[in-house]
Amino acid sequence: MNGSLSRRLLFGLASSQRFEQAVRRFPGLYGHAARAARRYVAGTRREHAFAVVAQLDAAGMAGSIDLLGEHVRDAAEAERVTGEYVELAKLLRDLPERTWLALDLSHVGLGLSADFCRRQVARIVEALPMGRWLQIGAEDSDRTDATLDVVTALADESAALTMTLQANLRRTPADAERLAEAEVPIRLVKGAYVEHPSLAHPWGEATDHAFAQLAHQLRAGGARFSLATHDPLLREALLAAFGPVEVEMLLGVRSPDARELVARGIPVRRYVPFGRDWFRYWMRRVAESRGA
Ligand SMILES: Cc1cc2nc3c(=O)[nH]c(=O)nc-3n(C[C@H](O)[C@H](O)[C@H](O)COP(=O)(O)OP(=O)(O)OC[C@H]3O[C@@H](n4cnc5c(N)ncnc54)[C@H](O)[C@@H]3O)c2cc1C
Repeated sequence: MNGSLSRRLLFGLASSQRFEQAVRRFPGLYGHAARAARRYVAGTRREHAFAVVAQLDAAGMAGSIDLLGEHVRDAAEAERVTGEYVELAKLLRDLPERTWLALDLSHVGLGLSADFCRRQVARIVEALPMGRWLQIGAEDSDRTDATLDVVTALADESAALTMTLQANLRRTPADAERLAEAEVPIRLVKGAYVEHPSLAHPWGEATDHAFAQLAHQLRAGGARFSLATHDPLLREALLAAFGPVEVEMLLGVRSPDARELVARGIPVRRYVPFGRDWFRYWMRRVAESRGA
């Protein structure tokens, strides 16, 4: 099976609730998956994530804590998740200074309405201690407009939000301009979702070029941004051009590189997901691990 086909297939399974339910029916298999997922996920409880950010801090890295979950379509459930994030935001006071939070908007009801979701995010941001940020993830391209609308509306009220942009999407240069104008810091990623070719560059060289071009666009426009990639060629080429820009990396991926960057004085932030909803996140990471 070629790489692109296996990524597509695994990604399809990663997006399937039915596949997750089927695996859950076999405790042995599910337990095996849970053990494998530990590479990428801090654990099931928030204390697990707190322990990981403490370890990262000791190693000179920052952490962004994400309670895993997405696609919540029930208002009461979205409000419960918001409540958990508000608690997390308050607890940041006791965690290392550079610890932030991360969130996908569909987890707090983007699918219900942008207005409802904006109110949830506003509650979380209000609970953040001074100097801490909430990093908004980028989901599939169907949600990009609504996500941008929520983020820019709250940024107008000076909310401490950053937003993720996916280099593979053909629309991203225009979105980057809009966010830079709104002074929203940008986390640049290659893009994890399998999208229609009319909307996205193919995975590989075309997306890598788009990533490099976007980074230069952001730099030239004076935007605040981080390079969220584990791709050493891309990263080193951009760091050589820009100097020490923050590099963001996922937990469990290329840890020796992260340590080496810290030793060179490059700021490193790691994404620290936790929670019971780890299965599909883990499948996505497997889909793009290609044996690494
Ligand atoms: C902090 C952060 C936040 C992100 N947020 C989002 C988001 O909101 N929306 C979104 O669509 N995507 C997000 N992503 C994922 C991103 O879009 C890519 O899918 C992912 O980072 C892999 O691309 P890469 O840039 O590392 O390059 P790749 O070319 O995929 O990887 C480069 C090298 O890194 C290593 N590697 C990469 N992934 C893995 C893995 N899973 N396991 C083991 N080794 C690996 C391999 O050695 C590989 O050769 C995020 C990534 C990061 C780092």
